[in-house]
Amino acid sequence: MMSRYIFIVGGVMSGVGKGIASSSIGKILQDHGYKVAAIKIDPYINVDAGTMNPVEHGEVFVTEDGLESDQDLGNYERFLDIDMYRFNYMTTGAVYESVIHKERNLEYGGKCVEVVPHIPEEVISRIELAGRKTKADFTLIEIGGTVGEYQNMLFLEAARMMKLKNPAGVMFVMVSYLPIPDKVGEMKTKPTQYAARTLNTAGIQPDFIIARSRKPIDEPRKKKIAVFCNIKEEDVISAPDIETIYEVPINFEKQELAGKIIKKFEKFKNGSRQKIKKPVKGKDRILKWKNFVGKIKRLADPSNKKTVNIGIVGKYFATGKFVLSDSYISVIEAIKHAAWESGYSPNIEWIDSEQYEKDPKKLKELKRYGGLIVPGGFGSRGVEGKIKAIGFARKEKIPYFGLCYGMQLAVIETARNLARLKGANSTEIDANTEYPVIHISEDQKINIKNQRYGGSMRLGAYPCELKKGSISGKAYGDKTILERHRHRYEFNNEFRDKLEKVGMTVAGVNRERDLVEIVELKDHPFFVGVQFHPEFKSRPLSPHPLFREFIKSAIKNGGN
Ligand code: GLN
Repeated sequence: MMSRYIFIVGGVMSGVGKGIASSSIGKILQDHGYKVAAIKIDPYINVDAGTMNPVEHGEVFVTEDGLESDQDLGNYERFLDIDMYRFNYMTTGAVYESVIHKERNLEYGGKCVEVVPHIPEEVISRIELAGRKTKADFTLIEIGGTVGEYQNMLFLEAARMMKLKNPAGVMFVMVSYLPIPDKVGEMKTKPTQYAARTLNTAGIQPDFIIARSRKPIDEPRKKKIAVFCNIKEEDVISAPDIETIYEVPINFEKQELAGKIIKKFEKFKNGSRQKIKKPVKGKDRILKWKNFVGKIKRLADPSNKKTVNIGIVGKYFATGKFVLSDSYISVIEAIKHAAWESGYSPNIEWIDSEQYEKDPKKLKELKRYGGLIVPGGFGSRGVEGKIKAIGFARKEKIPYFGLCYGMQLAVIETARNLARLKGANSTEIDANTEYPVIHISEDQKINIKNQRYGGSMRLGAYPCELKKGSISGKAYGDKTILERHRHRYEFNNEFRDKLEKVGMTVAGVNRERDLVEIVELKDHPFFVGVQFHPEFKSRPLSPHPLFREFIKSAIKNGGN
């Protein structure tokens, strides 16, 4: 059976939650028993998201097979509880790159290779490949950007061509924004009408319009959209702002969106119904999710006293929660998942490490936190402050969890202050340090020398063998694990003995490459640094084991 394809496009403006809407449509279809796949298309020339600034573009989400992709793939993984791969993502750059590559290989057999049809054809073949590989009943394709802009036109063209080829197997959802101007006080549908018309000029008629707004859309406005955008009233789906993103599927389900999608696909063939068979049972999943959302909402209630303060220490050039929470979305979600499971509401705060460089006395303010995290990062800004914060967490026995850079900096702190290796550093920060406890691997040296920066870090899942009895060993249940990486620098084994002597435990190694992947400190309630990014693997109903232990320890510590 061929997959059916649902394209999700954005109307009016970006940033209205197209990714969450796509994930939620996938989720409700799954809950109805269907197999779902999801693809994100980014209209950038960048071949992948690895070279984009996370503060501007949001987090770089790393897949199991090592693609540096958009944060929406993280949303898909968290909502759909399935792993994403390279075939779940494409950019304009990646599409052009493969067309040019094929042209160079004479794969077009002497034809003149043109933007149309060859680029949309490449897009289609990639979409169909994902549908085939996953054997999905429904493949969702989220087209980045907004209808009407120049950048994503070729992707809309691909979508139109797919519909033409297979009218019964392709559907369109437009996620549109309905403003409520303060002065007017009522919801306006005109921008959405224009967006639908613009989509029409690309040869596409939306089957559903998801009405994103501050408030639920009322009947008169539904009617307006129906008339002007040429769809049925019942196919206008209300999507007001809500407390938690995880409630969106429930909101869609209340309006029977999955049922409506399925019915539309089934009805298509000659007007007669053709059943789409369900491979999996979904009923208990709906219930589980409902209970989960109910719990989050109860915990978020201001009357709930069970909160845990978590501080994330980093360099923060951009202020405003929005930017930061977008660049660390997986870390934040992983903290939430673990805290919720423990019956606590997390209170996450951003701490600018540079303040400790200027005024170390401020470090004592860190005692307010149940636990501290230093997340991934690059470059030297704010690093000394982060190292000071890690030292404080070590001495004051505040639970500490270092993610990638946070692990490397914990190694530096231990080297300097416990092993007395004065000036120990990572060669990323100080190329001439006497004690390069973190250094660049030989293959990475070659990449840098040849200016091969794109997609060349140590990326994706690598196995890690755990030390029995260590904090990590116990958390994971003493088995070999697979965790995702994104870095160029590594623990320098030359210093392993020295560091072990002063109480550092090497709790996880990659045998094949002889690499240290996890370090821990003894005599501390929770001091764990991991060279990988565990946050990518946390799911709402199955929090990551290390985050779970960290949060438990943070709850116990309390903070004040
Ligand atoms: N900058 C460090 C490296 O490249 C850590 C990277 C990270 O935290 N993702 O090794």
